[in-house]
Amino acid sequence: MASVRVLGLRKKFDKTIAVDGVSFDVKDGEFVILLGPSGCGKTTTLRCVAGLEIPDDGEIYIGNKLVNDLPPKDRDVAMVFQSYALYPHMSVYDNLAFPLRMRKYPKQEIEKRVKEVARLLRIENLLDRKPRQLSGGEQQRVALGRALVRNPQVWLMDEPLSNLDAKLRVYMRAELKKLQKDLGITTIYVTHDQAEAMAMGDRIAVMDKGKILQYDEPHVVYERPSNIFVAGFLGSPPMNFIEATVVERDSQVILSADIFQYQLPGDLARIIRENLTGDKVVIGFRPEHMILSIEKSPESIFQADVYVVEPMGSSYVVDLKAGEYLLKAISPVTTRLPPIGEKVWVGFPLDKMHIFDAKTEKAIF
Ligand code: ATP
Repeated sequence: MASVRVLGLRKKFDKTIAVDGVSFDVKDGEFVILLGPSGCGKTTTLRCVAGLEIPDDGEIYIGNKLVNDLPPKDRDVAMVFQSYALYPHMSVYDNLAFPLRMRKYPKQEIEKRVKEVARLLRIENLLDRKPRQLSGGEQQRVALGRALVRNPQVWLMDEPLSNLDAKLRVYMRAELKKLQKDLGITTIYVTHDQAEAMAMGDRIAVMDKGKILQYDEPHVVYERPSNIFVAGFLGSPPMNFIEATVVERDSQVILSADIFQYQLPGDLARIIRENLTGDKVVIGFRPEHMILSIEKSPESIFQADVYVVEPMGSSYVVDLKAGEYLLKAISPVTTRLPPIGEKVWVGFPLDKMHIFDAKTEKAIF
């Protein structure tokens, strides 16, 4: 087991800047997620840590050792690739046993570990098959098993559950998290699935365009996103955004949007005055914090038309139309809603409101 430290990592492919000055640390035994949209540089970062890409710049430490010049096999990392890279001529058993045989584990220990991992991954009945006789999801579990079967210093995982069906995926993510915690193996895990990131990570590094935009515990990234991109990337349905102009009127600070005027309380008015670079903000509020009511209530801020209601079992996702905006709210099934096409009052508590500077896209509140 070991900590990992990445400092000022850069990697270019021809004209594409894949990784643009990425720094982060992973504590010994920590489970860290690199989260971001396709092409943001997650895989390239992981491959640099594994030693499969040579960085143009930056330093990578595993433990306290600078590993930039170490070949992959000497870094003691086990990596699960997006492509499964199984040995086609070997059975599933032999694929799983291979990393242990390479390291000269005794036969009995190999058998014990392979069986344990196969049980965890629910592939015990496939041990005699060849990879070509497996479905995509089964092949992916064998590939994951090959990394889990031994205890390296670091696990590096690139979307290891992407090909599993929804139920198996949710089962596997809990099992993987438990195994990681039981064994305490430092892990860097790449995904573009925000729910997976929230469920599994001790910390999440949210990436966009080759950079880390925020690196913190899941609840911090969710509750206090540092900018508009992070705010919009986490959460399903995503956060609602409304543009507004900041107006000073009779020494009051008012957020003036197309669909409402919102007078800020004193402390918040001061924070906005001190931190805003222009006069435009973006107001953000999450669907689950919206309060819908037929009659106007103390929380009500604006009115919207009920556009669509999607029953989700224990709650509704309510699509609302207000001016040009299509907003999404999550409401308990006990909420009384007007019929489709009619108006509903919408509000949200002040402490759940996010305010971003429209120019810098950074969070002000
Ligand atoms: P995904 O989730 O789609 O796998 P990612 O966040 O892992 O995406 P990377 O695979 O790291 O992204 O790619 C980052 C950028 O670098 C992309 O624009 C990609 O096209 C480019 N890139 C990655 N590998 C190569 C390569 N070998 N040659 C050229 N360009 C590459």
